Amino acid sequence: MILLVVWDGLRPDLVSPEHTPFLARMAAQGVTCSASHAVWPTATRINAASLSTGCYPAKHGLVDNELYVPALDPRRAISCADWRALQAMADSEAGPLLMAPTLGEILAGAGRRMVSGGSGSPGTTYLTNPTVTGPIVNWAVAWPTGFEAELAERYRRLLREDSDSVARNRYVIGALRDLMIPAQRPDVVTLWLTEPDHAQHHYGLLSDEACQMLRHVDAEIESLHAHLAATEQDLTCFMLSDHGFDTIGPAIQMETELIAAGFKTGPASDDVVCAGCSLYLTEGAQGMLPRLAEWLLAQSWVGALFVADELAEACPGALPQSAARGGHRRSGQIMYSYRWTNEPSTTGVPGTIYGSPGMAATHGSTSPYTLRNTLIAWGAGIKQGIVSEVPCGIVDVAPTVLHLLGIEAPATMDGRGLDELLTDGPDPQSIAVTHTTRRPKGAPQAQVAHYSVAREHSYLDYVTRG
Ligand SMILES: [Zn+2]
Repeated sequence: MILLVVWDGLRPDLVSPEHTPFLARMAAQGVTCSASHAVWPTATRINAASLSTGCYPAKHGLVDNELYVPALDPRRAISCADWRALQAMADSEAGPLLMAPTLGEILAGAGRRMVSGGSGSPGTTYLTNPTVTGPIVNWAVAWPTGFEAELAERYRRLLREDSDSVARNRYVIGALRDLMIPAQRPDVVTLWLTEPDHAQHHYGLLSDEACQMLRHVDAEIESLHAHLAATEQDLTCFMLSDHGFDTIGPAIQMETELIAAGFKTGPASDDVVCAGCSLYLTEGAQGMLPRLAEWLLAQSWVGALFVADELAEACPGALPQSAARGGHRRSGQIMYSYRWTNEPSTTGVPGTIYGSPGMAATHGSTSPYTLRNTLIAWGAGIKQGIVSEVPCGIVDVAPTVLHLLGIEAPATMDGRGLDELLTDGPDPQSIAVTHTTRRPKGAPQAQVAHYSVAREHSYLDYVTRG
């Protein structure tokens, strides 16, 4: 059995004997990937889609945490946290939801089973396996319908909206451990836990509340692992996060700035629609795109600016969206990240960013602190006691899981099988690693995208501004 657990928002530099004793101990026994990369935008749902498909947003099409889908709502974006909105999009002319085969579908096609649980938003959990090739549990909903009815009967109800994340984590882990795993005897179990993301957003990195959540998740996973290890002969574990985190420094809000600068008429106007890291210019507003891109690049709080590839020539200084492996028919014409610095938080964690007021920390940027994610593996088939510095990323997890099960990854996957982690694979130190940069045409000083490259796969490290 392969157990794949996402600790939402866990920065790799916060894995330690003090805060995550079980994970730190298991990492020492297995492989720690010290150069693993999230997909940009470094937000949850985009990376959920990349984990499911082994593809970048340009291919899977879940290009941001919010999407502007005029067929569903011509005035504002839909939230990808809302699974019903995702399903409505899948059924609309903007569908299908994910435009590449998912791990769940490939496993089902090979006669293997997968069960999934998630304590975050129903949308994130749904993206784990949106064609529901195996049962899925979330604290608020479960799929398929028959399984939800079974759960509701067994536990009397699903959790209420006011339940806290500890209750949600325990509920989902309990359903997997007591019900789904014994009944299905799955080959792959995926579990997406909503902490430490939630506590970090509200209280900050290494705040007392975030540390408490790190210990809570660590203890829950230790207990689940002990339970599975007692019954499973060949247990392989992957522990990862979907993105890192930055501390919020100066407050900024894109929509407010666009209104103040005259690019947007008002908060509810449909001329420029703000959606996550994306700006969608609707029909009457498209002519101002070069002027808007130029204005954004002149703002001290903008850290990276990408435009649709076909518009890059008209917007000197902007990078094409393909430079971040984005650019899809569902993408906004402009995507951006706020500017980041290395400045530490009050708790000593480096990485500060401009961000929306009202939160202590966030993610979504092109900083190295959000683009690096945790990836640790141990158990059957995995090397013991090493750190791999070979660049890798979330897109590589699905092909690696398939490789371990002896299933060929489809050519649609952008990721590579991480054979350097496997007992029969090459020594990570024998793999050549190089670094490259990319600059915008027309104004090469405006911004620089930095990449790590291994085995002809390149990973975005961070973007700097001139
Ligand atoms: Zn997340």
